[in-house]
Amino acid sequence: MTASHEWVVQCTACRCIITVRAADPQAHMQEPEPRPTCRLLVTCSCCWKAFLYRPEHFFNGSPAPSPECHRKARAEARTESTKLIAAAVIAAIRLNKEKIENSPAVHSKVSESLKLAEMIVARMKTLS
Ligand SMILES: [Zn+2]
Ligand SMILES: [Zn+2]
Repeated sequence: MTASHEWVVQCTACRCIITVRAADPQAHMQEPEPRPTCRLLVTCSCCWKAFLYRPEHFFNGSPAPSPECHRKARAEARTESTKLIAAAVIAAIRLNKEKIENSPAVHSKVSESLKLAEMIVARMKTLS
């Protein structure tokens, strides 16, 4: 029994493959789960847009992000790591002569650096 036996549908908006949630919890008791026979309102777990899908749109498979959404998620992860590296560099500069220890002075410089890195990345976004 694997997750690939669930009913999925391709999101109209972002093309991700999303899980069709059975409106009736009893439906989960049946093995294999029967194909939904009526139109179902499915909310995308990626873009949160809800559409009515016809039964012929449902198929057996695994949820998966569309290439577009996959790229977007990777770009966001890259922004996060850029932020971390920037914060580390700023912290290293600011802590230049400071003894690296678990002191309030070090903690406050690290959180200042994080704040500054957030500002840099936010500014980068408005410029790009
Ligand atoms: Zn998506
Ligand atoms: Zn979607």
